[in-house]
Amino acid sequence: MDSLLKKRNILITGVRNKWSIAWGIAEAVHKAGGNIILTGQTEREAAEIHKLSETLNSPCSSYVCDITSDTGIRNLFEEIRDKYGELHGMVHAIAHAKAEDLKGDFIDTSREGFAHALEVSAFSLIALSAEARKIMPEGGCILTLTYMGSEKVFRDYKVMGVAKAALETSVYYLAADLGKEGVRINAISAGPVKTMAARGISNFNTILDTVRERAPLGRNVSQEDIGNTAVYLLSDLSSAVTGEILHVDSGFNKMGM
Ligand code: NAD
Repeated sequence: MDSLLKKRNILITGVRNKWSIAWGIAEAVHKAGGNIILTGQTEREAAEIHKLSETLNSPCSSYVCDITSDTGIRNLFEEIRDKYGELHGMVHAIAHAKAEDLKGDFIDTSREGFAHALEVSAFSLIALSAEARKIMPEGGCILTLTYMGSEKVFRDYKVMGVAKAALETSVYYLAADLGKEGVRINAISAGPVKTMAARGISNFNTILDTVRERAPLGRNVSQEDIGNTAVYLLSDLSSAVTGEILHVDSGFNKMGM
């Protein structure tokens, strides 16, 4: 496990704080020997992330990238190419919906709110992958984070469920485009984890309780559970796996009655 990602440069987006799923992935990638490159949405976030990375005993580079800016995305990959030469893996852990679109009925989703949620949470994977492939000359692995609200109705997830459905289908189409270059792309469909983004979802504690009660493993998932699966998907252990949506949810998605 210690050397699974040795000498691999892995870009990890979406670390906001130590509770972020992306931070759990960063810790696991670091443990597996990978070189971590982090991004935050703002200068302030990037500075906080850099501080957080110091707890790993080998502080890593942190860059600023707001995913809604094409120039910002291009600049990020130019900076990474200049400093690291090439990239072996990338983690996309970014999602956002406007607060008003996570309240009330789904049918009241605004045109602007729909476009915003889909742009930030799904199109961003396409935009990042298009740049990442250019600095993956020997192939690579891309990973994104999704949620079961794409498959079934979770009443409080609303427009994010639709955004995650678009994200998952994008994984299939990107896998088809990138396979010939040796670039694999997969998604982890994670069980609920109490993060900053999760705070925007009403009744989140009920979702956590329901998983604990009904999932085959009888517990919620941890950042470490997700991080370890991420290492598998970013490493050669998963060399023939692409276009896959892998549930890391204590088996909750398999339960009916
Ligand atoms: P988080 O709040 O820690 O992370 C969300 C990240 O998205 C933040 O770092 C934020 O800065 C980033 N972001 C939002 N808009 C951005 C923009 N315009 N440009 C750049 N970055 C932007 O929350 P999290 O729960 O760790 O979320 C990470 C991913 O995991 C998301 O895709 C989320 O949907 C997914 N996920 C979360 C759960 C859960 O229960 N927490 C479950 C399944 C999937």
